[in-house]
Amino acid sequence: MPELPPHAPAEPPASATGAEVWAALGRAGRLARAYRGGGVRDGVDPDGLADLLAAIDARWSVPATLSASVQLATALPVLATGGGAVVERCLHRTLTGRATLALAATDTTAGTDLTALRTEVTVEENAVTVTGRKEWITNTTTAESFLVLARHRPGRHFAHFTWILVPADTPGVTVRPAPGGLYAGAGAGHVSFDGVRLDRSHVVGRVGLGLPVFARHIAVERLAGALWGVALCRRVLADTRHRLTHRAHGEGTLWSLGHVRQRFAACLVRVQELRALADRWAPDVAQRHDLPAAAALK
Ligand SMILES: Cc1cc2nc3c(=O)[nH]c(=O)nc-3n(C[C@H](O)[C@H](O)[C@H](O)COP(=O)(O)OP(=O)(O)OC[C@H]3O[C@@H](n4cnc5c(N)ncnc54)[C@H](O)[C@@H]3O)c2cc1C
Repeated sequence: MPELPPHAPAEPPASATGAEVWAALGRAGRLARAYRGGGVRDGVDPDGLADLLAAIDARWSVPATLSASVQLATALPVLATGGGAVVERCLHRTLTGRATLALAATDTTAGTDLTALRTEVTVEENAVTVTGRKEWITNTTTAESFLVLARHRPGRHFAHFTWILVPADTPGVTVRPAPGGLYAGAGAGHVSFDGVRLDRSHVVGRVGLGLPVFARHIAVERLAGALWGVALCRRVLADTRHRLTHRAHGEGTLWSLGHVRQRFAACLVRVQELRALADRWAPDVAQRHDLPAAAALK
C-alpha cells in the first residue's frame, strides 16, 4: 500500500468523505507534495501526484479520490493563475486542508460543448455580477468557494470567457446535491448563481483568458486520470490475484488454471501499457501542458 507520511494525524476511516480526507491530508502537509517544489505555481510533480492519488485510492473511496484529484490537478492550478489577496487566501486555505474548492466549468448545456455555456459575468470597473447555473460539479456541497467559468460576452469566441472566484456563502449562491447519491462522498451537486455580486478582486487571471487557461489545465486533469487509473487497476488486480490464489478449485485454486492466468496476464499488460504511456508523457503534460499527449492518456 502506498505510504502516507509518518507525521500524518489520525487517519479518517475508509468511509470518510472527500472533504474529510482532503482536510486530513492538508493538516498533515501532504497536499503540497503534488507540486514541484511544493508550490502550486511551479506545476504538478507527476511522481508526487501519482503517489498521492495511489495513497488515497488505496485507503478511501472512489468519490474521495475524485474530490482530491479535481482539486489537485485542475482547481488549484487554475486558481494559481490569478493573484491578489482573495486568490492567495483561497490558495492557502485549500492547500492546507482548511477549505475545499470546486471547479465549476460544466454548465446547464452539454459539458462537451463548453463554449455554449450560459453562465454570465458582468464585469464593471470595481465589481462583477455572476448569474447562471453549473451542474454535476465535484465538491459542490462542501466547497468554501467555487471557481466559476463564465462568459463576459455573447458568442463562442475563445476570448469571451473569464474565471471568477465565488465564495459559497455569498448571497445568491444556492447549492443542491446531485441526484442519485452515487457521488455524494465527492460532494457532487448543482450550484446556481442568482445575481451574485462581488468586488473585482474575485476575477481570477485576466478577463478573457478563461478558456485558454482551462484548455492548458484540463491536460493535467487527464494526466491525473491516467495516474489514478494505473493505481486503481493495480489495486484491483492485486485483490483479484489474491482472491484467485485463495479460491479452491478442484485439487488446487482458480490460479492453477492456465486460461485464468492468461486472462489475468492480459489485464496486467494493458495496465503496464497505460503506465508506460503515463511515464512517457507525464513531464510534457505537467510542464508544457501538451494537449495531444494528454488526449492520448485520456
Ligand atoms: C461524477 C461527476 C463529477 C463531475 N465533476 C465536475 C467538476 O468538478 N467540474 C466540472 O466542471 N464538471 C464536472 N462534471 C461534468 C463533466 O465535466 C461532464 O459530465 C462532461 O463534460 C460531459 O458532459 P455531459 O455530461 O453534459 O455530456 P454531453 O456533453 O451531453 O455528452 C454525452 C455523450 O454524447 C457524446 N457527444 C456529445 N456531443 C457529441 C457530438 N457532437 N457527436 C458525437 N457524440 C457526441 C459525448 O462524447 C458523450 O459520450 C462531473 C460529472 C460527473 C458525472
